Amino acid sequence: MRPEILFPLFTETSRLQGVGPRLSKLLETVAGPHIVDLLWLLPSGVIDRRFSPQIADAPHGVVCTITVNVVEHRAPPNRRRPYVVLCSDESGMLELIFFNAKGDYLMQLLPLGTTRVVSGKVEHYNNSYQMPHPDHMITPDQVEGIQALEPIYPLTQGLLPKILRRTIDGAIARLPMMPEWSDTALLAREGWPPWNESLRVAHAPATHEALSLLAPTRRRLAYDELLANQLALAMVRQHQKRRKGRSIECDGALFERAEKALPYQLTGAQRMALAEISADMAESARMLRLLQGDVGSGKTIVAFLAMLGAIEAGYQTALMAPTEILARQHFQTISPLAEALGLRIAVLTGRDKGRAREALLADLAAGEIHVLVGTHALFQQDVNFHDLAFAVVDEQHRFGVHQRVAFSDKGAGIDMLVMTATPIPRTLAMTAYGDLDVSRLTEKPPGRQPITTRAIPASRLDEVVAAVGRSVENGARAYWVCPLVEESELIDAAAAEERHHHLATIFGPRVGLVHGRMKPTEKDAVMEAFKSGEIDILVATTVIEVGVDVPEATIMVIEHAERFGLAQLHQLRGRVGRGVSASSCLLLYHTPLGETARARLKVLRETEDGFRIAEEDLRLRGSGEVLGTRQSGLPSFRVADLTVHGDLLEIARDDARLILNRDPDLVSERGQALRVLLYLFERDAAVQFLKSG
Ligand code: ADP
Ligand code: MG
Repeated sequence: MRPEILFPLFTETSRLQGVGPRLSKLLETVAGPHIVDLLWLLPSGVIDRRFSPQIADAPHGVVCTITVNVVEHRAPPNRRRPYVVLCSDESGMLELIFFNAKGDYLMQLLPLGTTRVVSGKVEHYNNSYQMPHPDHMITPDQVEGIQALEPIYPLTQGLLPKILRRTIDGAIARLPMMPEWSDTALLAREGWPPWNESLRVAHAPATHEALSLLAPTRRRLAYDELLANQLALAMVRQHQKRRKGRSIECDGALFERAEKALPYQLTGAQRMALAEISADMAESARMLRLLQGDVGSGKTIVAFLAMLGAIEAGYQTALMAPTEILARQHFQTISPLAEALGLRIAVLTGRDKGRAREALLADLAAGEIHVLVGTHALFQQDVNFHDLAFAVVDEQHRFGVHQRVAFSDKGAGIDMLVMTATPIPRTLAMTAYGDLDVSRLTEKPPGRQPITTRAIPASRLDEVVAAVGRSVENGARAYWVCPLVEESELIDAAAAEERHHHLATIFGPRVGLVHGRMKPTEKDAVMEAFKSGEIDILVATTVIEVGVDVPEATIMVIEHAERFGLAQLHQLRGRVGRGVSASSCLLLYHTPLGETARARLKVLRETEDGFRIAEEDLRLRGSGEVLGTRQSGLPSFRVADLTVHGDLLEIARDDARLILNRDPDLVSERGQALRVLLYLFERDAAVQFLKSG
């Protein structure tokens, strides 16, 4: 239940004075439906109204606040000409210019012969001084009412700055006095004012400095939001740990046999991760661990080997992937090894239906299947395990916290391993996973050749086609990724089809095509043909982005590379360089290249280090954008900006941990205040995990 103190903020904006249906619709697009949403709409700049010269000294293009006498009203002869109000002071004349104005309204506002204060941008025009559509026209005794530094808010069409400011003022006027939820020692150390004051100052900065994201008030607001985020994550985690886990121990015989059967040696990083995982499993608390490793670092085999402990102890295991292609591929990777060990492995996706599916589910419920690989389909109601003890989510950061919770409901006290490919910087990983235990695969399997990356203008397409043709003649295999035109599979598919047609006329049936609009069975068939070498050029949309593994592929062509994000380009490039032969990546771009696009391509040419690329990505895009992209599955923030508030995140994490150690169900006075904080930032879903929610 939302605390009562927040009720005034969680009401529709239409409850504010002067907000009708039209305005509330506009507000909804800029901010959101509720009054609380307006609070987070912080000014992006200020208009300085402190400059008040005489008319003759008012420079062109500068906002001035000038005291004048109203001399004359000149109504226009026709609707195309403006209404002009002539004003003066000792130094000269100023023309106030109004298009589409109502004369009687202006007459009322600016009566002849009176003194008025006008504020707005002055323009010099044909020897005259003009102020088109002043922002303020007031009597001298109203001057106090205009802010010396007036906040500028982001706008949408049809929403006047004045109206928006007035509405936000109305929202601020409704602020209840919030209890203090943050640690008083921290507040003192950082010099942060109370929350109410911080919010007020953020909306009415008295200096330019107050506007900075580094101003104490801004940092305090950002901190509170990050604390809500970290606390909510820690609560989910606490909930998972509270539900009794089980201690899984075994003598590792199965693992030993598997290791012997592997065609390669595990890397040091893989061994370390496996040791950390089995230590977690041996504990009675539930495991929740993140396995982070760049593309191609060998996470899948780690996941499978980790499963063996649970299987040896008599339990079932599951592996969930974000896409059909990936699920099938994991299944194919693991199957031979599992079968060599005499284990039963099965795959379940949305595509499996009817009798076969029923038979599979029956075997699963009877405990005859040791490893179940699948997609979201694993969450379906009728999927019942006999005894699921260990689940791996290969999420490539596409699943949210709540899906992980849902998964853990498929069995009692399930140990959980979440795998993710790097491109999330540490700070972002923390906002998505909080205080998870983390294992990192920092080292790539040995024998990998570096990838040569080149950026080439699209005008040289023919040369690229010829070069790919030559390499393919010599036995190479190539991916050809087509432009992401829009967030529309239909249009992407059309572009890929066109390129496929083009290349097929040159190279014949050796060119294959895969895109998101094909039937799953068709996709599989094409992927299989590419794996086996039946086709050697695979034209694709970004469906191949995640995890696809064909070690023989050594060429990656990416068209319209300037349209992709850095993380995505890195993922795509990671499809090659997986075998023993040298690989290359050709980034085709269209001119003119924007500054950011140029910087992205440069980073890619310079490094293959996923961690570095992730940090650069954050820097280039700003966390707002990284976090804002919906498909990333990462949380987005209203006030905090991780490119500048990253340091606060760690403090928030430690604080959240400390809070739950002392007061695990948030019942103390501060605990109650923290509940208000969680609701304020709409992290209410976490509150259900408290014992006395
Ligand atoms: P990720 O899932 O981290 O992107 P994969 O698990 O798909 O990486 O592994 C990439 C490739 O490397 C696979 O073909 C896998 O068989 C191989 N591989 C994994 N570990 C090793 C190792 N220690 N030595 C050599 N090859 C390995
Ligand atoms: Mg993988």
